[in-house]
Amino acid sequence: MKLADLGEFGFIDRLRRRTDAGEGVLLGIGDDCAAVVTPPGETLLMTSDLLIEGVHFRRDWTDWHRLGRKCVAVNVSDIAAMGGTPRFLLLGLGLPPQLPLAELDGLIDGFLEGARTYGALLVGGDTCRSPQGLFISVTAQGSVPREELVGRGGARPGQAIYVSGTLGDSALALRELLAGRTPDSFLASRHHDPSARVELGRRLAAARLPTAMIDLSDGLLADLGHVLASSGAGARIELERLPLSPSFRRALVEDPAAIDLALNGGEDYELLFAVPSDREEALAALTRGAEPPLTRIGVVTSATGEINVVDGKGRLYQSQQRGYNHFAPNT
Ligand code: ADP
Ligand code: MG
Repeated sequence: MKLADLGEFGFIDRLRRRTDAGEGVLLGIGDDCAAVVTPPGETLLMTSDLLIEGVHFRRDWTDWHRLGRKCVAVNVSDIAAMGGTPRFLLLGLGLPPQLPLAELDGLIDGFLEGARTYGALLVGGDTCRSPQGLFISVTAQGSVPREELVGRGGARPGQAIYVSGTLGDSALALRELLAGRTPDSFLASRHHDPSARVELGRRLAAARLPTAMIDLSDGLLADLGHVLASSGAGARIELERLPLSPSFRRALVEDPAAIDLALNGGEDYELLFAVPSDREEALAALTRGAEPPLTRIGVVTSATGEINVVDGKGRLYQSQQRGYNHFAPNT
């Protein structure tokens, strides 16, 4: 069966029957707007992401279920970066009419599973025909106690810089795919099925540890650059401290230049944050043994706008490229 056989309203009705009523939802799918309530005293967080066929995903590399999960993860990752709790999701779909229903169902299954993973509820959206290619727009709403909100602007010289998890795995998987090779299953899942660090972001914010935080979607140096621009500061990053997975390290042995993927590769969806040095013990106590682990990769400096990456001997490392920019001349 094709989507064209079911029609817009048939599709929406199926979707409505699959979404559960949930906490905070007065009206979900089926009215002109969703009507929701957020906990009293909490600030509303809103964020939107577009995923476009041929730009963000290729049908031949993607299984639909994982794509659905990824749509949610990349979006709630931004809520995590503010220290918030994801609550409600809106899903905009531009669908080719000839799309087999089984594929669309896979996408929706994955989306709903992703939503459940992060405790968020699908409350509405829009569905349109797309003459060419699949187009997915996800909007997440979340909330955070006002005094726990973490922006990008609070990093100050002397503070330590931490990241969660490992860097560069997703970019390495993408490089393998582009070269016609098959990444190992760990790397592939880091690329196709990333985890948003929602629980970690929430815990850090509730403990009031980060002065600035961002999720890594465009690459470490690019996203750190965003934090530093907002904060009016610079940074020194120690190359040898970058957290790397065993799969990534294996690739490095053959190709030392692959380290650039840890610095500039996108789609890690890890959290990067700054912490005052007198709070580092509290951070260690809070996160000891936790998954994902945290790694201290450098310090904030007063050299506004400058990121110095230094190797084990203290020499400046010149990175080959900057993070992903949709409108850069070479794209
Ligand atoms: P309207 O014309 O008033 O915008 P629609 O016919 O577009 O309403 O949508 C009807 C209902 O179905 C709304 O509650 C809307 O939020 C929901 N909806 C439509 N498409 C989606 C989707 N892709 N995901 C979730 N909800 C959807
Ligand atoms: Mg509409």
